[in-house]
Amino acid sequence: MRVDDWERAKQAGINPTQLAILDLLEGRAKGLGVKDIAAHLGVSQPTATDSINALDRKGLVEKLPSPADRRAVAVRLTADGAALSRKDDAMDGAANQAMGALPVEEQERLLLTMVKLIRELQEADAIPIQRMCASCKYFAPFAHPGAAQPHHCRFVDAAFGQRELRIDCRDHEIADPAARAATWDAFQAG
Ligand code: SF4
Repeated sequence: MRVDDWERAKQAGINPTQLAILDLLEGRAKGLGVKDIAAHLGVSQPTATDSINALDRKGLVEKLPSPADRRAVAVRLTADGAALSRKDDAMDGAANQAMGALPVEEQERLLLTMVKLIRELQEADAIPIQRMCASCKYFAPFAHPGAAQPHHCRFVDAAFGQRELRIDCRDHEIADPAARAATWDAFQAG
C-alpha cells in the first residue's frame, strides 16, 4: 500500500504526505485544523504545516479562519484539490487488486478485522476516531436480524450488509461515548 501511495503521489506531482492530506480532507466541507491533520497522519504539527503550506502554494488547499477558534485556521480542499483527489481515487493500485482477487468471504473477514483493529487503536487513543460505521450515530447494527443486509444506516435510511461497512464515510457523525459503546456491543453480539 505504501508503494501504491508513492506511485499515486508521483503521478499527482506531490509527495505521499501531501497526498494523505488531500485524502483526509476529501468530503470534509468544513476542513480540519492543523492539529487534527497532524493527529490523523501521525506526524508532528510542524511537518503537517510544511505539507499544508506546500499544498497551499500549489492551490490545492486553502486556509480559512476556524469557526471554532479565531486564532486557528481550518484547512480545506480547493476545487483543484478536490478534482485531483477524485482523479487519484480512481486509480486502482496493486494492493486493491490483490484484495479484489481474494474470495468474497475472505474480503469480508478482512474488512471486519480491520474494523476491529481500528476500534482497538481508537480505544487506546493511538489514533483519532475514524469515520467508520462503528462510531457513527446513524449506525444501527443488526437492525434487520437474519437478513442478507442486517445493518441499517439512519442517515440514508437504508439497510446494508457486512461488506458495505464503511471505514471512511463522508456522512459519518460521531456518536457520544455511551452510544458508541452500546453500538459496539450490539455489533459484536450480532
Ligand atoms: S452515515 Fe456513513 S458511517 Fe454512518 S452509518 Fe451511515 S454509512 Fe455508516
